[in-house]
Amino acid sequence: MDFNDTPEENDFRLEVREWLKNNAPKEKKAGGYDSIDVQESALARARDWQAKKAEAGYAAITWPKEYGGLGGSSIQSVIYSQEESKYNVPTGFFDIGLGMCIPTMMAWATKEQNERYVEPALYGKEIWCQLFSEPSAGSDVAGVRTKAEKDGDDWIINGQKVWTSGAHFCDFGIIVVRTDPTVPKHKGLSFFFLDMKSPGIEIKPIRQISGGSNFNEVFFTDVRVPDSQRLGEVGEGWKVALTTLMNERLAVGDASGVDFKEIFELAKENDFYGEPAVKNSAVREKLADWYCEYSGLKNTKMRRISALSKGDTPGPEASITKIVSANKLQDIANFGMDILDQAGINSEGNLKYHGSLLGAPLIRIAGGTDEILRNIIAEQVLGMPQDVRLDKDVPFNEIPTGDKSN
Ligand SMILES: Cc1cc2nc3c(=O)[nH]c(=O)nc-3n(C[C@H](O)[C@H](O)[C@H](O)COP(=O)(O)OP(=O)(O)OC[C@H]3O[C@@H](n4cnc5c(N)ncnc54)[C@H](O)[C@@H]3O)c2cc1C
Repeated sequence: MDFNDTPEENDFRLEVREWLKNNAPKEKKAGGYDSIDVQESALARARDWQAKKAEAGYAAITWPKEYGGLGGSSIQSVIYSQEESKYNVPTGFFDIGLGMCIPTMMAWATKEQNERYVEPALYGKEIWCQLFSEPSAGSDVAGVRTKAEKDGDDWIINGQKVWTSGAHFCDFGIIVVRTDPTVPKHKGLSFFFLDMKSPGIEIKPIRQISGGSNFNEVFFTDVRVPDSQRLGEVGEGWKVALTTLMNERLAVGDASGVDFKEIFELAKENDFYGEPAVKNSAVREKLADWYCEYSGLKNTKMRRISALSKGDTPGPEASITKIVSANKLQDIANFGMDILDQAGINSEGNLKYHGSLLGAPLIRIAGGTDEILRNIIAEQVLGMPQDVRLDKDVPFNEIPTGDKSN
């Protein structure tokens, strides 16, 4: 492993640094998309920043130049992110669209469709969402029940999606639906993209424990989608969905928030049973565990970056980073709140523990739950036997559900 930049990587880093110095927003509060109240102004700022990045070619470093990318390497993308993270730039609004939806379009849509949709997404003018999860199909996306039936040149969609991030401000979405319930679940799916303002779509924001409202329930009642907006063959939507899911797995990173350095400082500054917390042996044991996880993650990340620098593609072992970092975040935040007592929710300086405590469970679920990622590690990294999948070869409409209407 060599953690140093190659001369070419160093040149690229200096170029990016210079560009960020001259262009990154100077305001202190960039705003994420977490709180519903700041959302509109944060979105406007995010659109401005996205357009600037796209103009300079930094919005999609690995994309081909014909689609407005830089035609660069994965390691250049990592370098850009490392440098950008030093600035308080608005984030979050375009991640799903540019990280999952548009790469799926680039792989499956026609040239004309890509000419129409890719650039506005890259410049932040149009935002996309991912309509996969349903009340009874999350980890097992192939179990979706939202259905599409052919009617002339259109398909009519009926059903419900849930946890759709950003649906309330998105312009377009990608959706996986059931078009044939009489064949096994993976074989009766089809994949479409659609206009989120289509008649018959109703979006209901879900209020989260943090007070924010990032995701939604989305209801479809007789929503018409032209057959020309189908990606892949009828009944082969699972293949298209895998393109999206592969991109999602690559995008899954580590959880950010309070970490070892913060909790170490907090333990030095605050008392626990009448002495500085850092002197308590139980606290010291926890601190030692978190330090091991912190440095293990740092080295795992460096190993990944080093592999990217040599042109290798990161594999399913990236799942380890999400499991360890999300659980560490929840543990540290929980413990920080214990030490701080009421000051954890009352004092502005300590709200980071509060925010991390409420945000960590989301990270442990989104993009693959802890248990699903453990299955991936067991099966794909350690080569252990596959999870038992009893319903794999059964026609979808014969899988027992307990629901008499199906
Ligand atoms: C912040 C956030 C944003 C999201 N954004 C989107 C979005 O934009 N679009 C979208 O389509 N979805 C989105 N989701 C949904 C997300 O993909 C699902 O929540 C996730 O896949 C889990 O599905 P589920 O909630 O239905 O839980 P389930 O799949 O019902 O799982 C329930 C529990 O059972 C466990 N479990 C399930 N299967 C197995 C198994 N085979 N082995 C062991 N344990 C198992 C799970 O780990 C979990 O603990 C988002 C979720 C979150 C938290």
